Amino acid sequence: MRLILLGPPGAGKGTQAQRLVQKYGIVQLSTGDMLRAAVAAETPIGLKAKDVMANGGLVSDDIVIGIISDRLDQEDARNGFILDGFPRTVPQAEALDRLLKEKGLRLDSVIELRVNEAVLLQRVETRIAEMQARGEAVRADDNAQALGKRLEAYRAQTEPLVHYYGDKRALATVDGMASIDEVTAQISRILEAQVQPKPKKAANAARKTAPAVKSPAKAKSAGKKGKKAATAKRPALRAKSKAKSRAGTRTAAKAKKAAKKVTKKAKKTAAKRRNRLTKRR
Ligand code: AMP
Repeated sequence: MRLILLGPPGAGKGTQAQRLVQKYGIVQLSTGDMLRAAVAAETPIGLKAKDVMANGGLVSDDIVIGIISDRLDQEDARNGFILDGFPRTVPQAEALDRLLKEKGLRLDSVIELRVNEAVLLQRVETRIAEMQARGEAVRADDNAQALGKRLEAYRAQTEPLVHYYGDKRALATVDGMASIDEVTAQISRILEAQVQPKPKKAANAARKTAPAVKSPAKAKSAGKKGKKAATAKRPALRAKSKAKSRAGTRTAAKAKKAAKKVTKKAKKTAAKRRNRLTKRR
């Protein structure tokens, strides 16, 4: 299964992605996580992305497209993946279409988690408080100022993807304001409807692949027709078999004639012998 989770920061994409990972045995590909790892490892990409990320801006399309292209080629993505935080711009979505085409892969679903922006700030504040309580390091962009920027970037650059995928009839929207379990249930319903064929479709597909079961009468006539059709398709074979049967008839007639001749001759000889015997007596 291959899907995209769309939604503003704090919409719950990461939480839902984790549940889908467990349920379907697929991987979560979060460009945010990959970039944070690059920043922590101080790779050239990490060094380029560090400040942009801390300020709540978007890293350049080229960088994230390159990261995702490499990641899709890795073994663990074979079974399927959830794209979380990618694509974030229309050029990224177009690049993803090209990448998937090149790799011979197809997207199963794009799910948008729609949330009320006023609630997002509250959610992020709760997340920060929880992380601090657990003694975890807080993300550099988890503060009111950066969140404002991230929301702005979402509205301007990512929200157009709702139309991009909507126009392709690939988008399903879920109420991201519902409870975590309810959102999971909504996503599962969408995936089951989209990914598994509907009963009618499945029956049609089965009919196409399996030979139809015919009534004995129909099967008989179909058999005859089939035989006829098979011979009709092979005129050379048909002519050969006709000639063979004609030759067979000729040979049989000749043999009959010869047999008759032999009998006649034998009868004649027997008669002659009888005459000779009578004369001697
Ligand atoms: P996230 O963890 O998805 O909220 O991403 C954190 C930050 O990483 C974002 O605010 C961006 O600076 C950067 N980022 C993640 N994914 C992308 C992307 N697809 N395009 C551009 N920047 C991204």
